[in-house]
Amino acid sequence: MSKIAILGAAESGVGAAVLAQKKGFEVFVSDMGKIKEHYKNTLDEYGIEWEEGGHSAEKILDADEIIKSPGIPDNAPMVAKAIEKGIHIINEIEFAGRYTDAKMICITGSNGKTTTTSLIYHILKNANYNVGLAGNIGRSLALQIAEGCTYEYYVIELSSFQLDNMYDFHANIAVLLNITPDHLDRYDNEMQKYADSKMRIVRNQNDNDAFIYWADDPIISKELEKYGIKARMCPFSILSKNGMIGYIENGTYTLETPTPFNMEQESLSLHGKHNMYNSLAAGIATRLTGVSDENLKKSLSNFQGVEHRLENVATVGGVHYINDSKATNVDACWYALESMTTPTILIIGGKDKGNDYEAIKELVIKKCAGLVFLGADNSKLHAFFDPLGIPTADTHSMKECIEACNAMAKPGYTVLLSPCCASFDLFKNMEDRGEQFKELVRNL
Ligand code: ADP
Repeated sequence: MSKIAILGAAESGVGAAVLAQKKGFEVFVSDMGKIKEHYKNTLDEYGIEWEEGGHSAEKILDADEIIKSPGIPDNAPMVAKAIEKGIHIINEIEFAGRYTDAKMICITGSNGKTTTTSLIYHILKNANYNVGLAGNIGRSLALQIAEGCTYEYYVIELSSFQLDNMYDFHANIAVLLNITPDHLDRYDNEMQKYADSKMRIVRNQNDNDAFIYWADDPIISKELEKYGIKARMCPFSILSKNGMIGYIENGTYTLETPTPFNMEQESLSLHGKHNMYNSLAAGIATRLTGVSDENLKKSLSNFQGVEHRLENVATVGGVHYINDSKATNVDACWYALESMTTPTILIIGGKDKGNDYEAIKELVIKKCAGLVFLGADNSKLHAFFDPLGIPTADTHSMKECIEACNAMAKPGYTVLLSPCCASFDLFKNMEDRGEQFKELVRNL
């Protein structure tokens, strides 16, 4: 019997374990940290052997194949040993992909993955397609397949970390939203390595497939030249309509194929430039699957958005509060600021991933009436932004932060939490940061 070792026992690892067990492999699950109780219960329920708080190297290195959680880097000692021994290391999506014939719509990019994935799912679901959702979002693909789900389509959000361990997986429709600096610590600080990882989404595509990409992105444009992509090319743009399958022109959202489709940009439920890209990508993807004009129009205009992404929270005393806690890099914050239409108090800070704030400097000068720094250590923010002469406040908890915003904001202003940074210095995660923000705003 073939042996599979699984590193990391969270959503993807446990799902892969159950599927592997059902497919007759001898499975061993190992996690360096503590495994959550409900995952332990699932593993026990299926009689799968597991360990936590460390790795039994001998047992893991005895496996024929390893399924690794995307969160574990290649230089983690256990992974490095497995690579040295030449054991094939894959991820859960690659493994699960071997056991389904469903058509795969896969979305990657530095920003906008969750929004676009959710929007595509929303459109297909509302058009009564037999469709599932997986990847970085919701339940693992492996568990859904193990449980016998027989969807015709899966909409799958893929991070670069996931793509790194995918080899034979095949996206029938691939969406590449953008490539901007993020997670460079996992790529030896080399942008090229990160771009190569994102481009893996076109791997194994053939001429029956489609590749949807943002044509205005200079990095994507440069990368395209290197790949002999066989899939049908479906570029979208908001700058030009030449050769584009999707574009915005004079306030009209337009898709060219299979038959012309258009609607007023104003009727799209998602606002902001970045969401035009997301709406174009989602429109192209779903039209390729045959969604009718009527269904597409309805779904593009009634999508509720995703929590923590430019989420309207409340208007208190004439001040509008927006939660964009998911903006954990500078590019995401750029798009948030770009979409602001009233004087803005920007909440920025947290665990800095080597940010260069130069990219948002001009927009901060143009749009911000105040800056509230929220982090354990705000010194880098002071050094960069103080010389701009915009009022600032130095805060170290969400409570202090909201008090500072409240003191700075006047009726007609917007308070925008779009922090450019990870949240782990003061919060459990970005959701916790967003929840605390929303709760305190609602109690104002
Ligand atoms: P991801 O899943 O790739 O992290 P999300 O949809 O969760 O993307 O959005 C993350 C952040 O990026 C949010 O702050 C959101 O407002 C912003 N964002 C969404 N789409 C885009 C885009 N196409 N380009 C740039 N920023 C975007």
